[in-house]
Order: sequence, then C-alpha cells, then structure tokens
Amino acid sequence: MKVLVLGGAGYIGSHICKALALLNHQSVVVDNLSTGHREAVRWSRFIEADILEPDTLIKILQEEGPFDLIMHFCAKSLVGESVEKPALYYRNNVAGTLNLLDAMVATQHNKLVFSSTAAVFGMPEKELIDEQHSRLPINPYGQSKKMVEDVLGDYHHAYGIKSVALRYFNACGADPDGEIGERHEPETHLIPNILKSAIAGKTSGLKVFGDNYPTPDGTCIRDYIHVNDLASAHILAGEYLQQNDGAFAFNLGNGNGFSVFQVIEAAKNVVQQDIAYSIEPPRAGDPSTLVADSTRARQVLGWQPAYTDIESIIATAWTWHQNEKF
Ligand code: UDP
Repeated sequence: MKVLVLGGAGYIGSHICKALALLNHQSVVVDNLSTGHREAVRWSRFIEADILEPDTLIKILQEEGPFDLIMHFCAKSLVGESVEKPALYYRNNVAGTLNLLDAMVATQHNKLVFSSTAAVFGMPEKELIDEQHSRLPINPYGQSKKMVEDVLGDYHHAYGIKSVALRYFNACGADPDGEIGERHEPETHLIPNILKSAIAGKTSGLKVFGDNYPTPDGTCIRDYIHVNDLASAHILAGEYLQQNDGAFAFNLGNGNGFSVFQVIEAAKNVVQQDIAYSIEPPRAGDPSTLVADSTRARQVLGWQPAYTDIESIIATAWTWHQNEKF
C-alpha cells in the first residue's frame, strides 16, 4: 500500500510508519511538528504542513498521491487542556479533519483510518466497554472525537468515504529496538512519568492522582495497550477497507485493567528499584475504570495483541526512556 500518514511524527504515528515499512508499505508523513518530532520520521518521506490549511492538503493529495489509504493522527489529545481550551480542540480535531475529508473528496481518495479514543464513551456503564456502549463524552477532547466519528458516518453515506475509527484505550510502550518512543512536552501519561521519576531518582517526583476511587486499591484502573499492537490494528484496518465498504469503529485494548498502584509495582520489577510517589487530589474528568472489550476487532479484523503482559510493555518503554534519542 501507499499510505499518507497525517501526524506521523507523533508517538503513535511514528510507530505505525515503522510497522508499515517493515511490511514494505510506502508512506508519506504530513505533520506540523507542533507536538511531533522530525527525528521520529525515519521510514517515510516527510512534508511539514498543517491540516488547518485546506489548499495545502489538496495539493499534497494531488501531487504525492494517489494513496491507497490515509491514516489520520493529527490531534490535540489532553483531556485537561481540552477543558481549558475547547476552541483549540474543536478547531484542530474537528475542523482539521473536515479539511482532510473535503480534500479527500476533491481528489477522489476514499479510505481513511481515523485515530479515535476511549474518551468518546464518557463514564463507563459496565465493566468492559464494547462498541455498543453509549457514547457520552465528558470533556471536549472526547466530544471532538465523537463529532468526527459521526461526521465519518455522514461522509460515507453522502460521499462514499470508507473509514475505520480505532478507539484506543491507554496507548503505551515503545519500539522494542529503542529507535522511537513516547515523548510529550509536558508529559502527562502514567507509564512515562513513572519511568522518568525512576531515572531522576527523585524521592517524590511521581504523583498519584487519587487513591479513593471505587476500585480494589482506590486508584484508577486502565487498559494499557502497546503502541505496536495499535500499529498492527491500523494496518489490518487499512486492509479491511480495501475489501469492505462502510464507516466502521473498533475498540482497541487488552481487556485487562491495571490500577495505578499495580502499574507502579510492575514498573518497580522492570527498573529494579523503588519508586516513590505522593498521593494527590484526583484529576478532573478521570473515570475510575476504563477497560476495553475488543472482541469485535479480534473477530472482524483478525487482530491479536502481542503484548499482553504489563511488565513486558513497561520494559519496552524503559528501553526507550533510558536512552531517549530525541
Ligand atoms: N496518573 C497518575 N499520575 C500520573 C499520570 C497519570 O496517577 O503522573 C493516573 C491518571 O489519573 C489515570 C491513570 O494514571 O488514572 C492513567 O492516566 P494517563 O494520563 O496515563 O492516561 P488517561 O487514562 O488519562 O488517558
């Protein structure tokens, strides 16, 4: 396949570009480098551009295409920031995606894999979240992704755009070769924060946001899924779109929940040292438990996550953080 990867300089996009290259697929990355890293684009032709510029998108699709598939990762993705700056989120995530979809229609491109999120669901109504779960987001980030999912249904109906929305639970881990990994400024995610505090050797660097949730140990439970397993799901989704017509959505997780304390314990085993933390007030908008039911992705796409053990997931991130290359 020849694939256009929007947001390919970011954490998840860069891992997908490596996975595509390993399967001999060709990729072109478009990224505005607002949060991505030029050094992470190692397996693709790179074009610095912004999805907020509709004419640029049309030009890229015309001059670099035709593409068999488009993958779209350009998004703002921090829940807290989305509450403070909803305009930024709706403009980038919704208006930016509309620009892309309209450019696709204008240039006769009709296959899109879209980066969605468990945040479209809001507060969980049952233990395992499947695709039937109601979508009632509780923050502008989740709302912006839900809006795009709805647009994708309408664009399929009216313009024949075929799409798969992949709703990630907690993406984590890194390329096991240590060539690329997770690097956010500021870092808000649990596993990188644990490992960074292990490296810094601080006595109280790590903050645990809330220990009074209705969970067995009082800390939030999440479903941690390795970034390379997300990568394989994207490639399967792209292949699925070559054969199937519709606007589809799949939930991607391991189906196992780990509490913040359990993740810290697992990380201690990986880094072979104690990790100190302080208990802080809960973060706004954090549901107590988010765990995926990914039966549908397994059955329909044939997806099989390779990393099911939390310690081996953390070990790949540890390889990266000990020797970050950018
Ligand atoms: N968390 C924490 N300390 C941190 C970062 C995260 O206690 O430094 C908690 C957070 O409150 C949530 C869980 O870890 O319960 C996962 O948070 P993360 O930001 O990694 O992912 P999210 O679930 O928000 O997408």
